[in-house]
Amino acid sequence: MILVVDDKEENIYSLKKLLESKDFLVDSALSGEEALKKVLNNDYALIILDVQMPIMDGFEVAETLAGFNKTKDIPIIFLSAVNTDKQFIAKGYASGGIDYVTKPVDPDILLLKVNTFLKLYKQNTELKEIQNALRAEIDIRKRVQIELKEKVEQLHYTLEALPLVAFTADENGKIDFVNQKWMLFSDSEHVFPKSHPDDKNIEVEFINTVIQNKKLEMEIRLQKLDSQEYCYHLFKAIPIKENGIQNKWIGTFTDIDAHKQIEKKKDDFLSIASHELKTPLTSIKAYIQLLSRSLKNHESVQIKTYIEKAYLQVGKLSELIADLLDISKIESGELKLNKKDTDIKDIIKSCVDTIHQTHSSANIKVLGNLNSRLLNIDEHRIEQVLLNYLTNALKYSPNNQTITIIREDLENELLIKVKDNGIGIPEEKQQKVFSKFYRVEETSLKFQGLGIGLYICADIIKKHHGRYGVKSEPNKGSAFYFSLPYHN
Ligand code: ADP
Repeated sequence: MILVVDDKEENIYSLKKLLESKDFLVDSALSGEEALKKVLNNDYALIILDVQMPIMDGFEVAETLAGFNKTKDIPIIFLSAVNTDKQFIAKGYASGGIDYVTKPVDPDILLLKVNTFLKLYKQNTELKEIQNALRAEIDIRKRVQIELKEKVEQLHYTLEALPLVAFTADENGKIDFVNQKWMLFSDSEHVFPKSHPDDKNIEVEFINTVIQNKKLEMEIRLQKLDSQEYCYHLFKAIPIKENGIQNKWIGTFTDIDAHKQIEKKKDDFLSIASHELKTPLTSIKAYIQLLSRSLKNHESVQIKTYIEKAYLQVGKLSELIADLLDISKIESGELKLNKKDTDIKDIIKSCVDTIHQTHSSANIKVLGNLNSRLLNIDEHRIEQVLLNYLTNALKYSPNNQTITIIREDLENELLIKVKDNGIGIPEEKQQKVFSKFYRVEETSLKFQGLGIGLYICADIIKKHHGRYGVKSEPNKGSAFYFSLPYHN
């Protein structure tokens, strides 16, 4: 909008008409004071200012406008009938005006000037906006850079304070920070600690992780520079994203040697204890059988019942010991498979028969394909898995002893599911049930067990290159499954 300032209404009128005929928006003021008020309250792109006005002349108005930030850049065209000599023209420029037109005004010239000034003003404003935006952008970047630097420093302090060997690397895996503890294992900030000759190479593993862009977690043995011995460490590396962009890696080596030693001692103890228990138990079993045979014709029903009960309990005890022995075999890598072509139909049938003998109340249904199919598997071990799933299904379903076995012959593997209607397992604990000695806390007191059956099952299925898992809903039931590939 253009502001026309003149103390004579007829002048304003004619200028207004002229400018409005070219579609300019025009506002007007009849005095310098009114002009100042309007300029401070509204936005004008150009001011056409009469010089001769009572009280406050045009120059004074221009000088005042030059003093305000908001108005100092508005172009001004002075209009004057009298002050045509150079001195006055110069004063006009000095007070911030941009042009000076003497009366009588040539309309064409005035319009040309108005057009040029408006264009200039627009360009000027746009330039200023760009400049401001650039300045703001630079400020933001500077702030972000400072914040980033602070964050990186904080991270380094944290990594320094931790009792771990730690490092950070850029997005390509190049190490850019190591903490003090690193230097106990490596003589350079750029060289990864050396792992045991039988373990994987740390740098190779880390670079592979960076290429695949996923987390790394592995156990590895490291040797301190001043020691001959290797200690177990848990090596972890995680990618860090900032504003959705992956730009850093953090790696740590946690000393887990003490924990490993304890675990080994526990495994050794279990192995020795179960071996030692096995021999006397086998003798007890044999003596009970002898006793049972020699009392065959004995009249006392009660004695017979006692002997049967003792035999049953000894059976349970030997199963437990067999499981503990399996655990130590798994730990020492000695759990070997004895594979031969076996009909899966026979395995299912044999397991169902066994369960019927030991659990009289069980109601087991078999669904899916019931035909013969030969698989190259360890018959006893797969029976052990299915029996474990079935006994668990019954044990953890105290109110409903109906169990369903579902066999699915898929494209590349045979899948067996055991479904129960029991207590179920909360979602977050479902994968953990296959871990060694894991039992679901909420129910562990109500049901007897050691938490090793499923761990052994998982190992047996892994050794057959199959899959295993569970889908379950608390209070509705569980479906445990395992699969066996047709070709290993
Ligand atoms: P155990 O039964 O001796 O505790 P397992 O290794 O066979 O050991 O099972 C581990 C845990 O998984 C059990 O303690 C139980 O909490 C849970 N679990 C296994 N099978 C079922 C099932 N069918 N329904 C509900 N929970 C189950």
